[in-house]
Amino acid sequence: IYILGIESSCDDTSAAVLKNHVILSNVTASQDVHKAYGGVVPELASRAHQQNVVPVVDQALKRAGITKEQLSAVAFTRGPGLMGSLLVGVNFAKGFARSLNIPMIEVNHLQGHVMAHFIKENEEDNHMPPFPFICLLVSGGNSQIVKVNAYNDMEVLGQTIDDAAGEAIDKCSKVMGLGYPGGPVIDRLARQGNPLAYQFAEPNVGGFDYSFSGLKTSFLYSMRKWIQEDPDFIEHHKEDIAASLEHAIVDILMKKLRLAVRQTGIRQVAVAGGVSANNGLRNAFHDHAERYGWTIYIPKFSYTTDNAAMIASVGTFKYEDRDFTRMDIPVFSKVTFE
Ligand code: ATP
Ligand code: FE
Repeated sequence: IYILGIESSCDDTSAAVLKNHVILSNVTASQDVHKAYGGVVPELASRAHQQNVVPVVDQALKRAGITKEQLSAVAFTRGPGLMGSLLVGVNFAKGFARSLNIPMIEVNHLQGHVMAHFIKENEEDNHMPPFPFICLLVSGGNSQIVKVNAYNDMEVLGQTIDDAAGEAIDKCSKVMGLGYPGGPVIDRLARQGNPLAYQFAEPNVGGFDYSFSGLKTSFLYSMRKWIQEDPDFIEHHKEDIAASLEHAIVDILMKKLRLAVRQTGIRQVAVAGGVSANNGLRNAFHDHAERYGWTIYIPKFSYTTDNAAMIASVGTFKYEDRDFTRMDIPVFSKVTFE
């Protein structure tokens, strides 16, 4: 089975080819146009997708060493994401599938992030979580604890009631003047700083839910106060600030995750989404594996932020179940798991 995956939900245009779950190619064009605006501009994003989608798919097929006639199906992100961005991907998929007379397969973007764990590096690769497992899904738009019973059966045990973890990191780094997206910059600075230098407000929400807006506000007020006392404060202490911010967020994430593991008794624990690229979070997972006997699953860096390989991964499972999509479906911009 050869599956072409297409991802265009936000600001990355990506195409990938999997052969029976094994990765053959994964090509992503990131959009630099948004950097000047400090965030993703939807109209610019859809225009860039229009320009990128054909060359990116071309590259993905070329690197996979196959022709488009060999494809079994086209899997695409139906949602959630930006409407204009999604439309480029779904319309390309429709045209491509129709011209080749092969089925198309819709994929939920969040399900894709979770199922990135099932991409095989080669035929012998068997390092994947057994069902059921717990997955901490942390990205730019979502922070959820998910119980994964099967590729198509996911229960959200808890989620953020306001900002996502990635969103909080991006907003705080913007306050520090570090540009967009801030996640990777904070990560780099944090490695050289003291994580216990500063404290920020801790959330107080029930169950397995998260909240990051209080932390964000407390971070902003601290910055304002420090800058008033010393205009160069951020510049002089950016490593310590970044390390403390990262530490606070990782702490919040792991606390509820421990609770979920304890309550479900499931100690197979995965992490997914853009924030799972964060080294502080990855270290915390290793620490928990040692301390609490968890079996942990951490994705390759290239499968953490948006990519089409994860879309093709879900696409392959759906293909095996003959779960195809009609040609006349619309995209959806909200909704988490169907
Ligand atoms: P969603 O998947 O919820 O729709 P999205 O697709 O925009 O949102 P992703 O691409 O999965 O989100 O992740 C992007 C987020 O990951 C951004 O907030 C970014 O700052 C964050 N991020 C990326 N790398 C790192 C890192 N090394 N450390 C911390 N955060 C990071
Ligand atoms: Fe994403």
